[in-house]
Amino acid sequence: MRQSYTVTVPEEPPAAAFPFLKQEMRRKGSMSGSVLVSTFVGLLINQAKNSKSAQGLVGLKNLGNTCFMNSILQSLSNTHSLRDYCLHNSHRRDLNNNSRTNTALMEEFAKLIQTMWTSSSSEAVSPSEFKTQIQRYAPRFVGYNQQDAQEFLRFLLDGLHNEVNRVTVRPRGTVEDFDHLPDEEKGKKMWSKYLEREDSKIVDLFVGQLKSSLTCSHCGFCSTVFDPFWDLSLPIAKKGHGEVSLMDCVRLFTKEDVLDGDEKPTCYRCKARRRCTKKFTIQKFPKILVLHLKRFSEARRTSKLSTFVNFPMKDLDLREFASENSINAVYNLYAVSNHSGTTMGGHYTAYCRNPSSGEWYTFNDSRVTPMSSSQVRSSDAYVLFYELASSSRMTGLLTRSSPPPPRPLFHRDTPSSLLASPSPLFLSPHGWGAQWHCERYTFQRKTLKRLCYI
Ligand SMILES: [Zn+2]
Repeated sequence: MRQSYTVTVPEEPPAAAFPFLKQEMRRKGSMSGSVLVSTFVGLLINQAKNSKSAQGLVGLKNLGNTCFMNSILQSLSNTHSLRDYCLHNSHRRDLNNNSRTNTALMEEFAKLIQTMWTSSSSEAVSPSEFKTQIQRYAPRFVGYNQQDAQEFLRFLLDGLHNEVNRVTVRPRGTVEDFDHLPDEEKGKKMWSKYLEREDSKIVDLFVGQLKSSLTCSHCGFCSTVFDPFWDLSLPIAKKGHGEVSLMDCVRLFTKEDVLDGDEKPTCYRCKARRRCTKKFTIQKFPKILVLHLKRFSEARRTSKLSTFVNFPMKDLDLREFASENSINAVYNLYAVSNHSGTTMGGHYTAYCRNPSSGEWYTFNDSRVTPMSSSQVRSSDAYVLFYELASSSRMTGLLTRSSPPPPRPLFHRDTPSSLLASPSPLFLSPHGWGAQWHCERYTFQRKTLKRLCYI
């Protein structure tokens, strides 16, 4: 049976939540448990809505240079699937199904999110209990030094994932060769293998898959590698003057690269080191896409680029970077972690769109203030949080909006039956370049699939 390639995010039945309600349910008998608990959760959220300070509009105290942490925590608090996972106590089911010794990071994180979304007080919350746990997990966060928000996010997501991983016993690593398979199949196999070891709510939401294709310039042999990614670190495109767009940065990230000289890889078929071209495409788009703008130099933050990168708030269309004819690749922005200042001294804030009201707010440690959505784009933007647009919306986009202007292309292997077909073949000029001369590239299959989408 073919496995679906998309990770479906199951609806969370909040059954594990509120153990005291279970007794209540047993007594009453007639009422459906999930209805009762849902109502209760709804009540909690509604109560929160009624109070002035709630709806997640709660600041976080700065414990001493912890603005990097607060900025990421607020961005995650406004990630509605993750928020609901904590509010419904669904994480407990994942924790309970495991016999882990340490589950304190997830528990403290969920507790913090619950406090931020149900607190009736307008006072800022102290994340100190949470900080104790994150520094136990990642000792680099001990103390009160300035830290990098993106690095912190990586550590935090990794820590949370480990505590709610549905895989309790990781299978022993076996070397399986999927090289004989067509790329799409190989990508799926590699993804299933990944899920055999790493499978959690966090993975459901944040992890995508990147494909890198290496093509030998001598014989045209193309080898592919598939890797999971938790975020994409984008180099900032440089232009003489004028605007740099986020798309420019993604194009730079996926741009075909020539590996020559000392970098020459060994071609599998030639059995010799050859000049090769390397290109990234996105094989699987995550539900939540985290884009990190590489503002800081690699050499431990000696300089910062304060280039203004223009990013769309809505309809970030990444279909041109897809390896396959992926439909779901349009994203909407919901949070930004900002860094202002220099490498010597800076400050982090977050701009987040409230998942309930759709309004934007500035989260500056303990202060939360409404803001206009026109202020969200700034040269301080550092980590961008995008959510995949819903599939219903996508259907509209596919039929209504125009993709990059297509140009007709005919490959030497184009089956004559397709050339003779009444609708002409249009292949996007983007996204196909590297695979063009890729030998194992199954033209007919992909073309047929693409025709179906037109
Ligand atoms: Zn070769």
